[in-house]
Amino acid sequence: MRAWVVERPGPIASGPLRLIERETPVPGPGEVLVQVEACGVCRTDLHLAEGDLEPRRPRTTPGHQVVGRIAGGGRRVGVAWLRSTCGRCRYCRRGMENLCPDSTYTGWDADGGYAEYVVAREDYVYPLPDDRPAEWLAPLLCAGIIGYRALARCDLPPDGRLGIYGFGASAHLTAQAAIARGAALHVVTRSEQARRLALELGAASANEHRPPEPLDAAILFAPVGTLVPPALEALDRGGTLAVAGIHLTDVPPLDYERHLFQERTLRSVTANTRADGRAYLELALAHPPRVSAVPYAFEEADRALADLAADRVNGAAVLTLT
Ligand SMILES: [Zn+2]
Ligand SMILES: [Zn+2]
Repeated sequence: MRAWVVERPGPIASGPLRLIERETPVPGPGEVLVQVEACGVCRTDLHLAEGDLEPRRPRTTPGHQVVGRIAGGGRRVGVAWLRSTCGRCRYCRRGMENLCPDSTYTGWDADGGYAEYVVAREDYVYPLPDDRPAEWLAPLLCAGIIGYRALARCDLPPDGRLGIYGFGASAHLTAQAAIARGAALHVVTRSEQARRLALELGAASANEHRPPEPLDAAILFAPVGTLVPPALEALDRGGTLAVAGIHLTDVPPLDYERHLFQERTLRSVTANTRADGRAYLELALAHPPRVSAVPYAFEEADRALADLAADRVNGAAVLTLT
């Protein structure tokens, strides 16, 4: 089969990815072989290609938003970021499997979906309907699920004012979930076309530098640590800022009075549980969000990541294999 691998992690301009031929993987006990229809492109894939996230094994195939079919004409499933957890540790037992120290991840600990086939654990795939386009479904699997967890983690009160910093794939889905809950949404992003998309999706405002009113909750999607202090400062009393990404550049020193006092809270978001995934997919299928999918041919995975790095993707990039 054909598969992309991270040959040598480095800046995307140095061409860290390579398209190779490799043996079609063979599923082990409890695993399924999935024939890939489409695979969403996530910023995490870029972090892995560029080496911001340490590779866990050589020549890994990225990709963790897979829509496909169990090989041999089986059912349609989604393969997402969380590949496995131990099921026994204190975190797994209290419903926090996203914090399992022995968790593994698709496209990091094992080969992912930038390939014609991927192997996944049967108890970690999500059932998907047959009647939806693969390009629409793929971004739900990480951009949607992680955004949904970030929305839970930022403690948005009913009819609250929510800020979103950075407006890519995950943010544009999270925005719609928040607006559906009655939030007044303020988007801050430097991309003009992303600001336009935010307003089209129902944001109350979209600005380049700061929100126009104090916020009850905010989510930082841009992987930029220097945005943490101003985002905290823009919170109203008792507000919470959740950092959605897996990687963040250094956060500058905080001033207690300006950034944290009045019970403002700074939180991280770490992956997701399967319960988050099921809950989000159920919501998304019942109230389908508009997905701004930007399709790329499978052979163009490196170009898709370069476009993501340069903020040229307005919405969610998706590799299509059919
Ligand atoms: Zn992702
Ligand atoms: Zn565990």
